[in-house]
Amino acid sequence: MMMGSGRKYGKRCTDNMRSVDVRNLRRDGLLKPGSVFELSWTWRGKAEAAIAVAVTADRVRFVYCNSERGGPWEDVDCTAMLDHTPMHFGGVQTWWRCPCCHRRAALLYVGRTMACRHCWNLAYRSERETEEDRALRRAGRIRRRLGWEPGIANGRGTKPKGMHWRTFWKLCAEHDAYANQALGMLQAWLRRR
Ligand SMILES: [Zn+2]
Repeated sequence: MMMGSGRKYGKRCTDNMRSVDVRNLRRDGLLKPGSVFELSWTWRGKAEAAIAVAVTADRVRFVYCNSERGGPWEDVDCTAMLDHTPMHFGGVQTWWRCPCCHRRAALLYVGRTMACRHCWNLAYRSERETEEDRALRRAGRIRRRLGWEPGIANGRGTKPKGMHWRTFWKLCAEHDAYANQALGMLQAWLRRR
């Protein structure tokens, strides 16, 4: 069994998120100043989500309602700047500037705000870091410090040269505590399945 990461149990965040592609909007002529329109998504034939969009000269405003994992609905009103870069063979490429990090992006993903892939994956990583991940990460850090083979399934290694025995035993005890914590949570997770 692999025990390197708790992340195997979850999907990457942006895989199941709706996105707005600036290239499609431009191609469809929707990015003209003064343009107002609605984007909607359907799921099994039913309208599921809609975003009101308003365009000014250099920015696009998104207004919609959002619910996180079946939680309460919240109004979202956010604005993304538009940016243009020259293309190799002439013409310009249009980009969003992510409202969160201001990086250029072709896609903005819809959630409690509009944001680029990087921002969602970062948010996802810190939000979804479970106790188990944390325990594994801490055990892993101790293993690296001791020069042990990675992975708590590999058990204890030996004392590195030049390290005091007291330090070594202290680190061993900490390592075992984190490893047991992670294993306990992993077993509980397996039982739930
Ligand atoms: Zn971003």
